[in-house]
Parts: sequence; C-alpha cells; structure tokens
Amino acid sequence: MHDKTLSELSALLEAGEVSSVELTRHFLDRIERLDGTLNSFITVCRESALAEAEAADARRARGEAGPLTGLPIAHKDIFCTDGVKTSCGSRMLDNFVAPYDATVVERLKAAGVVMLGKTNMDEFAMGSSNETSYYGPVKNPWDTTRVPGGSSGGSAAAVAARLAPAATGTDTGGSIRQPAALCGITGLKPTYGRISRWGMIAFASSLDQAGPMAQTAEDCALLPQAMAGFDSRDSTCMEEPVPDYRAALEQPLEGLRIGLPREFFDEGLDAGVKAAVEAALAVYRELGAEMVEISLPRMSLSVPTYYVVAPAECSSNLSRFEGVRYGYRCEDPKDLEDMYLRSRGEGFGAEVKRRIMVGTYALSAGYYDAYYLKAQKARRLIAEDFRKAFEQVDVIMGPTAPTTAFGLGEKADDPVTMYLSDIYTIAVNLAGLPGMSIPAGFSDGLPVGLQIIGKYFDEGRLLAVAHQYQQRTDWHRRLPDACAD
Ligand code: GLN
Repeated sequence: MHDKTLSELSALLEAGEVSSVELTRHFLDRIERLDGTLNSFITVCRESALAEAEAADARRARGEAGPLTGLPIAHKDIFCTDGVKTSCGSRMLDNFVAPYDATVVERLKAAGVVMLGKTNMDEFAMGSSNETSYYGPVKNPWDTTRVPGGSSGGSAAAVAARLAPAATGTDTGGSIRQPAALCGITGLKPTYGRISRWGMIAFASSLDQAGPMAQTAEDCALLPQAMAGFDSRDSTCMEEPVPDYRAALEQPLEGLRIGLPREFFDEGLDAGVKAAVEAALAVYRELGAEMVEISLPRMSLSVPTYYVVAPAECSSNLSRFEGVRYGYRCEDPKDLEDMYLRSRGEGFGAEVKRRIMVGTYALSAGYYDAYYLKAQKARRLIAEDFRKAFEQVDVIMGPTAPTTAFGLGEKADDPVTMYLSDIYTIAVNLAGLPGMSIPAGFSDGLPVGLQIIGKYFDEGRLLAVAHQYQQRTDWHRRLPDACAD
C-alpha cells in the first residue's frame, strides 16, 4: 500500500477499498519499524492520527469527503500545530507546544488530512544536510551513510522511505527542492505569497515559502489546492485565485520553450548529475519542447546576496527567543542580562548563532548600506535576469543541486562548501519565483533531481511539465531496497 501515490490512495479511499484508519495505521507501523534508523520524525502522533483517521472515515460515510479526506501526511516541524510540540529542530523550542495551528496545517486539517507527525529539519531551517538539527541528523534512505539534504530533510526522507505518502516542507533558499532531489522525490516551492506563512516559524520572511513534497507532480498538485489562497493573517499572502492544479496537468508540451541557463551547467556541476539532467532534457525534446540557450548573468551573485539577506532577516526574526515568553530558559540566571545571554547561548546551535552574528553585523549602523542595501540591489538585478529570460522562454530547467547526496559529516565543518549546495536554487527565492525538483535518474545509485523554474504564479504549468515527464519515466516510482516492504 505504501508504494501507492497520494492520488492513488485518494482513489482507494473514495472507492471504499481502504479506510483512513487502515491507511494511517499502515504508515504509523512503517514509521515505528523503519524510522529508528532514518530519524526523519521528531514527533509521531499515533493516537491523534488514529482519532483523526476515524473522524475522516465518519465524514466519508456521511458523504462529506473531499479528495484529501483521510489521507495521512507529515508536517515539517516548522509549522505550528495546536497541542503538538513544534520544535523547529532547535533546543530553543524543545519544550514549545503551539496553542494554534499554522494556516497550512489548519487548512489541510479542514480538508480532512490526517497528521502522522512532525518531521526532523535543520535548526530553524538553516542548513542543507539536516545535520544542524538538535534531534540529530536524518539519514538518506538510499544510503544511510549520507545526508538527505536540508532543511526539509526529514520530510524528504520520510516520503522517500514511504513512511508518509506526502509531507509539507518550506523553502527559503532551496529547502524543499534540494532535499527532494537528494532523496529522489518531487517537491514544489510555490511563488512567494502563494501560500500563507502564518504560523510557520520565520527564518527569512522575504524568502520563506511553504510547499508540498510527495512522490509525483500529480500529488504535488493535490495538496496546494487546500494549502494555497489568501490569508489576511499574512500581509505578504497574495489575493490571487487558486487554479485547479490537477485539471492543468494534461496540458501538452508541444511547442514549450525551455530555457537552459549557461550558468547552470558550469564546471561546478558533477558529471553524473549533468548526464542525468541531459537525459531528462532529451525526454522533453521528444515530447515536443524546444530548447533555448539562455543566460542569467548575475547568477554568481545569488549565494553571496542570500547570505546577507537571509542572516539579516533571521537576526531580526530570532530576537524573539530570549528565554522570557516561551521556549528555552537557562537554569538559575543571575540577572536579566545573564538570562538573555545564557538562554540564547545554550538554546541555539552553532549555525544559528553564526547567522545571527552575520546578520546583526550586516544590519548595524555604518554597515547597513555596504551590506544589506547592496544585497537588496543585487537581489533586484537577479530578479531582472529572470524577467528578461522569461521573455524568451516558458520555463527554465537545470540541475537542482550540484551533486548527489554527500556523506554525513563531509561538509559539516565547512559552512561555505555547505552553502554552495544551494547554488542553483537560491536565486529562485531571491526572485520570488516558483520552482520544482523532480526525480530524473540516478548517479552511482543516488537520486538526481531536475529543477524546473517558472513564471510568477505559473505553478500549474510547472506541475504539468513535471507530470508529462513522469508519464514517460518511472524514476519517481523507485524506492530504496531497504524500504521496499
Ligand atoms: N540551505 C539554505 C540555508 O541554509 C536554505 C535553507 C532553506 O531553504 N530553509 O539557508
């Protein structure tokens, strides 16, 4: 049953061939059996999940079920969940139980989705390997000596190992797409403003965006139907109507213009990844798409720009964790200052502290113009490169990440090398565009992701472009041997 996609499970529920309770129990049992090795969950909600499943079955019996009713999924532990611990992968929030649901959680719940649990992640979503989590690293189901990517590494590993048919993730600089690529699943980062950020613990507010992670594009079309849409509680959430994403999947690709940025196929790209991406592009040619060589000349500015903007915003967002109102507080503080210092010193991990310091420096008087303002200008130029490219093409394609999954510990002590894992994804966040990663083959037995970038609010087209490829290939159906049954 676990090898079925979310859409297939939805059809089985609809046909009455399986109940939500059976489905939920099946996945909970898999988590119990397999997650000891993978560590993809921080919290498993056995009892509440079964109760939600029972309620979903009752709702179906009353004839009130929708396509998502009764489907079990997992939420990244960055989304506030009423009554269930929300740690954000940090010691700082190890004792935090949110008193409300994030909009994403609330809307999925209203659609009848069952929450299996909360997935592991890099601390405050800062990382590309899931090694900065207070709860220990997540292992890649394809090779447990390797990282799953990050920061949504727990969600990616859980879906890849079929411990959940789908999960939510967030992407600030690549955190949905890069782990999706490294774990061989499909992930969608929507346009900035497409999905409400309310109740999603903030890292860098002008970049953060939630999205679905699942086996297929069809599944990634199913979830935003409930997740997306205007929310007055997030002032950056757009009042754009939510199209029927599933209806858009069958758009033919004949005549589609695919832009291939020269900068995405540079010397930093691993040869095995390049070969898999090129093979995927050949499939698109057969499907009638036209390839156009393009250039995004300011791409090289994206990592340095991001590492000013994101730390600056995080230093401001994370100032709320001071040991007073909620979260970690040190033992026996001497005075107020000692309490602030030790609570933050003990509650945050090394990477989070590094970013807070960089961000505070970049925002400080005298440096603001030189760093933050300059980065904002560079950001504008990067967005301008995409705008020009999209005058010529409908979508842009390239690799999601420069390499396949790397070894645990391999880059942990070298932040700059780690930061380069997102070299092909970060510019998309800086511009606010939608992007996807889909499974596009293997290199030395490890999954490779193809990245598809679209115009603002063109998620429907991205999903269709991904879906058409998945009708022709079966990379997205492969699953690691150790998780086969
Ligand atoms: N890896 C990037 C970082 O460390 C992006 C993380 C993310 O998208 N949340 O900031």
